[in-house]
Amino acid sequence: MLKRVLIANRGEIALRIIRACRELGIETVAVYSTADEGALHAQLATRALCIGPARAADSYLNQDAILSAALASECDALHPGYGFLSENPDFADRCVQAGLKYIGPSGDVIRKMGSKAAARTLAQNAGVPVVPGSDGPLKDWKQALTLAEQVGYPVLLKASAGGGGRGMRQVDGAEALERAWHEAQSEAVACFGDGEMYLEKLILHPRHIEFQIMADQQGHVIHLGERDCSIQRRRQKLVEESPSKALTPELRAEMGQAAVVAARAAGYVGAGTVEFVLAPDGAFYFIEMNTRIQVEHPVTELATGMDLVKEQLRIASGLPLSAEQADVQVSGHTIECRINAEDPQQDFKPSPGTTTFLHLPGGPGVRVDTALYSGYEVPPYYDSLVAKVLVHGSTRLEAIRRMRRALEEMIVEGYPTNIPLAHLIMHDPDFVKGRYDTGFMEQKLTRLLELASACDHLMGDEETP
Ligand code: ADP
Repeated sequence: MLKRVLIANRGEIALRIIRACRELGIETVAVYSTADEGALHAQLATRALCIGPARAADSYLNQDAILSAALASECDALHPGYGFLSENPDFADRCVQAGLKYIGPSGDVIRKMGSKAAARTLAQNAGVPVVPGSDGPLKDWKQALTLAEQVGYPVLLKASAGGGGRGMRQVDGAEALERAWHEAQSEAVACFGDGEMYLEKLILHPRHIEFQIMADQQGHVIHLGERDCSIQRRRQKLVEESPSKALTPELRAEMGQAAVVAARAAGYVGAGTVEFVLAPDGAFYFIEMNTRIQVEHPVTELATGMDLVKEQLRIASGLPLSAEQADVQVSGHTIECRINAEDPQQDFKPSPGTTTFLHLPGGPGVRVDTALYSGYEVPPYYDSLVAKVLVHGSTRLEAIRRMRRALEEMIVEGYPTNIPLAHLIMHDPDFVKGRYDTGFMEQKLTRLLELASACDHLMGDEETP
């Protein structure tokens, strides 16, 4: 087993990794920026080293500083978490060159999957269905125009290096294509320093269904079932659940198998996620593979009872997977709500500030992953995710009711959060029936925000003497 792991991350995911390490008797070294001196991850690790100023570029993205910290503290492995350097193939290579085990797939695999156009080709060649569209990257907008005519509008222009919905544009007709191409491409260059583009047909009313996969160095690859992540706003996930109401056991087996085939074709090692869009007619298409632990991984942990981070650590140590495909059983129903320090009433503007009071929900079937504590100041420099509230129940309805009461118990004071919005989503009749697709939030947002503000007024009135 590993002896000492450097955690190149912060926030709840850094805590998650520290916890898994502690349970396995592995020492941890946290790194933190000057803005994170009071952060929990820096306090709970065996040791903590400051790696630079607040700006992510100077600290959590500073490869030299992180590698020096790992070597100076004599770590034998590095866990990148999600975000920051977690999908940077050069960083993965540098870790290995420095004699550290990188907890994730090799730089080559990350590189292969990091180009979404190349990943698409790889999946296609392995026989996994992909959305009708381009074979590899496109030369220019004229080539995109010709192809769009062939596959039919609407289409999506996508950046190969894209992520978080950036570098992506929907095009409804030929007249809008040239402009959308230039917009998407400049955004991709600005965000990722790479303007390579490809095209896919837009699947109407799809669900976003992703499969968790796990692969060891001995060549075993298994999947741990799906997560339905269709409740998204501007392609950012808000609520995830497993199992998906949209899958039959047959479809689940077929999609899970396709995910395993894609992972195998990539020579994958470690934890990964294969993302699909599922059309209303039951046709599914590969869209991308994420080569890291995901924000929503605890959904799968509650659903299967497996500890994905421990599994990652086992795999990095050279041990085989602790389960075979036949051992994986999804039980009951799991839901996760992402809690962000942001104000939905102000176009979801990030709302960092001091946590003046905190009360976390508990009781049967509730799990909260957070790095918050009373008095903690959420810094303005990083992601606005501050907590993940998860519930597990024997049925979907029980899970929904449990999530409602968990969110009712939860109190975060000091800045606005999206807790009231998440609570309203749990009451939406279409959500409750499980009838939703990726258009849910866009369609419902105005109404949900009206309801949220009406609730605020009611609460205000109650307080007036
Ligand atoms: P990113 O890497 O920027 O997150 P993805 O390719 O994963 O981009 O797509 C983000 C979201 O966009 C998906 O979750 C899905 O909801 C939607 N999407 C992507 N491709 C398609 C498609 N071809 N048709 C319909 N929706 C799509």
